[in-house]
Formats: sequence, C-alpha cells, structure tokens
Amino acid sequence: MRYGIIADIHANLEALDAVVGALRDRRVDAYLSVGDIVGYGADPAACIDRLRELKTTVVAGNHDWAAAGRLSLDYFNDYAREAISLTREMLGPEHLKFLAELPPTDIVGDVTLAHGTLYDPVNFDYLLTPYDAHLCFGAQTTRVCFVGHSHVPMAFLLDGTVNYSASSTIELADVEMAIVNPGSVGQPRDENWRAAYAVYDSETAVITLERVEYDIETATSKILRAGLPEVLAERLWLGK
Ligand code: ZN
Repeated sequence: MRYGIIADIHANLEALDAVVGALRDRRVDAYLSVGDIVGYGADPAACIDRLRELKTTVVAGNHDWAAAGRLSLDYFNDYAREAISLTREMLGPEHLKFLAELPPTDIVGDVTLAHGTLYDPVNFDYLLTPYDAHLCFGAQTTRVCFVGHSHVPMAFLLDGTVNYSASSTIELADVEMAIVNPGSVGQPRDENWRAAYAVYDSETAVITLERVEYDIETATSKILRAGLPEVLAERLWLGK
C-alpha cells in the first residue's frame, strides 16, 4: 500500500489541491489525515468535502473539535478563537457533525494516526522532544505513527533509544518504530511556505517528507476577503 499523509490543512483549499495533485501523481492507494482540517483559512467546507471525496481516514484536530463545539475556546489564542468563530459560521450542521464525530486516534494497517500525542490524544499536547516521543512510543502498537499539530516536519525513531530526525527520507527497516510529523499542508511553520505532506510505501517501508508549491496569492486574498485576521494571511508567506 502507498499512503498519502495530510496534516493541518487549516481550510487552505489551494494548498490542499496542490498536495492532492502531487499525491495522485505518486499514485497513492489511500489518504490519511491527522486533523485540523479547518481553522485559520477561508475554505473549511470545501476542504472537508475534498477529504470525504477521497475517502480519507481522518482523526480530530483541536481546531476541528473546537469548531464543532467539542473543545473549549479557552485553549486558543485570540487569532485562533476569531478564526474558529468565523469557521463555525461558514459551516452547516452536516459539516459540523462530521467534525464532531472525528475520533481522536485511528489505526489503518500498520499506521496509527493522532493529532497531538498518542499518550493523551484528547489533550492535544505538542510532540516536540525525544521525551514526548518516548511517552508516545509507550502507547504505540504499530510500526509507524503519524502526528500533526506543531506544523513542523520531523520524525522520532526508536532504535533502543529515541532519536530525533530531520531527514526527508525515513527507512523503517532500520528502526523498531517511528513517529512522523509530515508538516502542515495549509500553514507551515518551518519558514518554508510550500505545502508539506508525506508518502508512506508500506512495501518498501520508506516514508518521504515532501513539499509542493501552491497558489498562495489566492489563498491569502481569500483570507482577507473572508474578514479573517490579517496576520493569518501574512504568516502564510513567512511560513510561520
Ligand atoms: Zn494545526
């Protein structure tokens, strides 16, 4: 199986379409998403529809559950709160129900999906350190776990000890288990504006972290036209 892994779309339809186009070119068999379909961007409904058309397996991100009223807004900063309120107005009951019903984790083949961490998925902590990864590995039963949330591509590899990796190619045959963040489709925060995604080929046991350019002019002008905070458009250009 070849999987396309999609994280933190954040209602950026132009970025999502570029990533889906790239994944089609790679002939992926199935699409997996680790959440935050909505929030920050101007196209929450269309992004949900795209994932459903592709029969994507999706787990909940904090923005998804917050938009659906399943998570307190206290958790968020002012910009995020404003975006979540506008996102709610842009979605009908059917889309909100879809977000509310997303599970916090899921397993597909030898892949686990979670948005923040696997050891406490409903609290949406950030997985950034080898210690965080150590705690996740304790809860992990599959060869690989994909996470999102930090919007920064990175991997942690368990091979006796836990090692951080910034490599764009991960060979699972070399390690016991791996946790991989593909980076964000719609709001990268590693100072690279290009949409991030990953491809996992379970036969060769290789994961590649990839980038693709997208129509950022359209995405940012839609954010401004929707009345979302200007900073949410500016940060897309900066990739942070
Ligand atoms: Zn996010």
